[in-house]
Amino acid sequence: MITTDKGNNVNKKVLHLYEDLIREASEQTIPCTGNGHLFDTDESINIELRKWNEPIAKELCSKCPLVYDCLTYALAAKETHGIWGGTTPIEREQILRNPQKPA
Ligand code: SF4
Repeated sequence: MITTDKGNNVNKKVLHLYEDLIREASEQTIPCTGNGHLFDTDESINIELRKWNEPIAKELCSKCPLVYDCLTYALAAKETHGIWGGTTPIEREQILRNPQKPA
């Protein structure tokens, strides 16, 4: 769920990861471009719609050339919203809590 509105509240390492991801995304065709609504996990969105969208977004991520970089960034930034690198916020939380176990 790439957005271009990164705030100033991230450290330099995370910001570099984000800038690299944005640069690579601008040079390639990535599945989330134009499909941002599928990757949104905001709780204001109807839960049934989120349940419907989530597997579609994950499937799109699985075909994305940036999936590894995207997940790396999302974990480093502790992104709390959206599907990034094929993971939900809860799955990323699980990975960060126990990186040895698959989410
Ligand atoms: S891995 Fe998913 S969220 Fe990340 S850039 Fe690719 S399609 Fe977008």
